[in-house]
Amino acid sequence: VSKIRLDRFLAESGYGTRKEVKQIIKRGIVEVNGVPVKNPSFKLDPETDNVTVDGKDVFHTNDFYIMLNKPEGYITSTKDKELTVMELVCNIPRFENLFPVGRLDKDTTGLLLITNDGELAHRLTHPKWKVPKTYIAIVKGKLSEEERERLERGINLGDFTTKPARVKILKEGKTSEVEIEIKEGKYHQVKRMFESVGHSVLKLQRIAFGPLKLGDLPEGEYRFLTAEEVEELK
Ligand code: URA
Repeated sequence: VSKIRLDRFLAESGYGTRKEVKQIIKRGIVEVNGVPVKNPSFKLDPETDNVTVDGKDVFHTNDFYIMLNKPEGYITSTKDKELTVMELVCNIPRFENLFPVGRLDKDTTGLLLITNDGELAHRLTHPKWKVPKTYIAIVKGKLSEEERERLERGINLGDFTTKPARVKILKEGKTSEVEIEIKEGKYHQVKRMFESVGHSVLKLQRIAFGPLKLGDLPEGEYRFLTAEEVEELK
């Protein structure tokens, strides 16, 4: 096996110049296999050793794939007058090259993929690939079985008709909790679909994007995708 120095490993992974990563290492926030290492010349095997900075896994790669649990109040954009989702990932190396894949409304929460892989992002957002997205919607009133079926079959929204969706009622009462999976992603689509059957959306959260699941990632936090997850996306 060919071992390399910790400072080189971090520099190659995008954590800065050799000089900059030495500073990071000196701060004592770098661990190799769970053990803090403060020596920049520490040798490690990039294939098998696990390195973390501030508790987050480091990938020895130029490609970044990040899952964010977007909170309310953030705009899905790299630039805006208002607060953007990029604020939440700004301590990731080379974060200037990162951008969100697709869009969630300002008041929508949940799974947002952020990457610097333009080719993958382009593919995942292209209608041809029909990437399924699953949402939990809290809507006003009790959704009837007939309304549920209409949402599943497809709804004429004026400028387009929605493609078949999967709609499951999870809880019902004065408000209803509904799981909906769509394979397209037009502007405000989920809200407009419920609106058109007479139920306005009070809360919307995305829980899955293609093979990715939000799981128990806390709101406002991000994590790097695992190698397996990246493989599944490609
Ligand atoms: N549909 C919506 O209406 N809003 C979102 O943020 C995502 C899907």
